[in-house]
Amino acid sequence: VKIAIHGASGRMGQSVARLAAGEGATIVGAIVSPHSKALGHDVGELAGLGIVGVETTADTGSGLLGADVVIDFSTAAALPHLLQLAMRQKIAVVSGTTRLDASCERLLDEAARVVPVLWAPNTSVGVQVLAELVTLAAEKLGLRFDVEIVEAHHRAKVDAPSGTAERLRQAVTAARAELRPVYGREGDAGPRRPDEIAVLALRGGDVIGDHTVHFLGPGERLELTHRATSRDLFARGALQAARYLHGKPAGRYAMVDVIRG
Ligand code: NAD
Repeated sequence: VKIAIHGASGRMGQSVARLAAGEGATIVGAIVSPHSKALGHDVGELAGLGIVGVETTADTGSGLLGADVVIDFSTAAALPHLLQLAMRQKIAVVSGTTRLDASCERLLDEAARVVPVLWAPNTSVGVQVLAELVTLAAEKLGLRFDVEIVEAHHRAKVDAPSGTAERLRQAVTAARAELRPVYGREGDAGPRRPDEIAVLALRGGDVIGDHTVHFLGPGERLELTHRATSRDLFARGALQAARYLHGKPAGRYAMVDVIRG
């Protein structure tokens, strides 16, 4: 599968570039921010692979030329322009960019009427399984358990809470629809309300991504945790998703489709 990488100079974009060949993908385009210091550099050199003959560009349209699928790990602000061009140039989209607003979500649906689109806040297999376990635990443990989510990420992460924490909150509310999110507690917050689910973010060091869903009940606690120990995990998942989308009809797809093949 021929891929373009949108966000090619970023932590995730470089991981995708490094792993592409081993996952059966050829890089044909690499797109970065117009303000990136990496603009005009060879994408292979940036990722420590040696020259692969693809220079980074800030021109999204030309970066997509010849690609079957674009893999996007960029920013929510950059995604709408990419989606417009992917629709125009008929290129499938795998996006792992987080913190999308409602208009961006609508644009994903719009793009999916024209090309295959897979958006996932976490492209690891383990997190998909965790989400299924969380829904099961929320169902089985019921109303006597309070549920809270804590995530930890490296100090450079700019958004909070993580897209994965939000995904896990939805996995809880799939079984407990009454729960409303709370994103912090301070001062006279009062006793915890039974319809709360707090989603809390730690930031520091080089933590790639830890997520724990706490089920706090009378006399017992259950904690379900996922820890990412390498960013390559997400990149490999995105490349598997790109292979899966190649040749599929237009529509919205999810990591669960990739895992089930
Ligand atoms: P990063 O800051 O290291 O990289 C961002 C990249 O986006 C850079 O290459 C930058 O040049 C590019 N970019 C910014 N503005 C652009 C524009 N207007 N046009 C084109 N490119 C532009 O970030 P990162 O750590 O690689 O993370 C990127 C995104 O992926 C974040 O939203 C993060 O939360 C998400 N993420 C998702 C997963 C997952 O599994 N889905 C895993 C890790 C990170």
